[in-house]
Amino acid sequence: MLIDSHAHLDSERYAEDRAEMLGRAWAAGVGAVLAIGIGDGPQEMHQALQICREFNGCREDGQGRPPVESGLPRLYASAGIYPHSTTQADSAALAKLDSLLAEPEVIACGEIGLDYYHEGAPRDVQREALIRQLEIAAARKRPVLIHCRPKDNTSDAWDDLFPVLDRHWRHTGLGGVMHCFGGGWDQARRSLDLGFLISFAGNLTYPRAQPLRDVAARVPRDAVLVETDAPWLAPAPNRGKRNEPAFVVRTAEVLGGLLGANGAEIAAATTKNFFRLFSLRADVGN
Ligand SMILES: [Zn+2]
Repeated sequence: MLIDSHAHLDSERYAEDRAEMLGRAWAAGVGAVLAIGIGDGPQEMHQALQICREFNGCREDGQGRPPVESGLPRLYASAGIYPHSTTQADSAALAKLDSLLAEPEVIACGEIGLDYYHEGAPRDVQREALIRQLEIAAARKRPVLIHCRPKDNTSDAWDDLFPVLDRHWRHTGLGGVMHCFGGGWDQARRSLDLGFLISFAGNLTYPRAQPLRDVAARVPRDAVLVETDAPWLAPAPNRGKRNEPAFVVRTAEVLGGLLGANGAEIAAATTKNFFRLFSLRADVGN
């Protein structure tokens, strides 16, 4: 079984075929998906939880008809305020985050972090909102999913991120995930030192991503995850198309190749890492 550790299942791009898309994931061997609850801003932060409940309900007790015959992955949810949306991180939005993180299915706070590539919000606003959210996640004992994107050919966002995590997160011991990792070895090493898992997405499969593959090859097997970041960032050979959790299989194959693990071994390793970080057991409910 594989786990897609990061997919935006609430995207409008699945409005027509969400059940079938999840059925394809199950058929491809994806046993669980973490649905990211950022929506298009804090007003939509609850949507991932809604989807999680809707489909887990179908999966477990057959209320209503199962939407697909093949079966469905177990869904988990997160909630967080994305860097671009941090101008909306007012007290109401933060209170909403706090109450979502109290729900058992909401196992992570994210994706949160710093994005200096698009700089959709001023840097100091991003940073303040990140710190507030780290405090809320710490109180609710939820690991964090970090989005960090520097300007091209710089490490500016990483250079601001690590001091924040050192000061406001390390002491919690809760760890987290560096989502869609795109940094160099120095950033990977610092992430591992903070107790984070490093999650690789479809960009690992792209022809020009050799530097990233070189970094991935050095990450210990007990610290890696795979994700799609669907609907974005489809792995080769589907690059440019709408992405979906079934495609995480391709990223896992490439990562396995880099780490000397066959398909079953990389699936087992990434699944074990996921359950360990979130203190979940494969055979019980959330
Ligand atoms: Zn994402």
